[in-house]
Amino acid sequence: MTTLTTEPPVTQTFPIKDTIWCAACGHFSVLNALDGAFGRLGIDGKDALIVAGIGCSGTVQNHVRAYGYHALHGRALPSAAGAKMANPELTVIAAGGDGDGLAVGGGHLMHTFRNNPSIAYIIMNNSTYGLTKGQASPTTEFGVVTPTTPYGKLDDPMNPLLLYLSSGVRYVVSAISTQPRVLARAIGEAMDYPGFAMVHVQSPCTTYNDTYEALKGNPDKGIDPGAWDIPESHDPSNLSSALDIAQQGGIPIGLLYRAHESIPMHDRLTEARERTKARQRTVDEMLDTLAI
Ligand code: SF4
Repeated sequence: MTTLTTEPPVTQTFPIKDTIWCAACGHFSVLNALDGAFGRLGIDGKDALIVAGIGCSGTVQNHVRAYGYHALHGRALPSAAGAKMANPELTVIAAGGDGDGLAVGGGHLMHTFRNNPSIAYIIMNNSTYGLTKGQASPTTEFGVVTPTTPYGKLDDPMNPLLLYLSSGVRYVVSAISTQPRVLARAIGEAMDYPGFAMVHVQSPCTTYNDTYEALKGNPDKGIDPGAWDIPESHDPSNLSSALDIAQQGGIPIGLLYRAHESIPMHDRLTEARERTKARQRTVDEMLDTLAI
């Protein structure tokens, strides 16, 4: 069932204690970063909407000082795009997990990319379905044993960054929940981008797939960090370079791509409306076109 909150919270206090999240879940950091991004941009909650999907990450909209809409599983993007189309002045953010966005909602991705609505979409990637007790998701590594892959996962993991870049997303940033300030800046900049902006966050699930050690490394155990910073020499306007980085293995962290040219969906709609005004037809003229 979808729910729509009727009033944004009147204070800026987040009821963190009311979250359903387990201790040290990466989503706490994403929530704090969202708060930081709102503050940084000076956004008032009554001018913003968070549309969230289903899953542990999908409850993030309950704790942000903005209007919230809990969409159907995998349907955050069409709901968010519709809200933005109806009210271009509204700041719209979509949020959810890797299962919600990349599996259940995978079909919506590339079409939302093509429409280019000015929405920041935050995917909290923990490579598991935490809310339903740890099943394999599209980003779960090959061979991992989960309740739905008792003999090891047989399909290859998706490379989401490569998917976004090769599908035409004009703004792609990769982040990690252990860097809340960097994440807050990344979310804020994505919200400011004139077009669809993808914020892909590594947000470990401490209960079913704790990847903190794999991401940050542990010298005592001889574990190298899987996450690495994108070199400063990378030019984010260079798509070829961004594609190379996305294929280098591990988890690159930083701004991968920012296209200079981006015509957001509401600008395209406005232009189309202006164009059609000039050739508006009367009802009789329209009926005439149906005559045999
Ligand atoms: Fe976070 Fe995992 Fe707990 Fe869900 S199950 S709240 S993703 S730690």
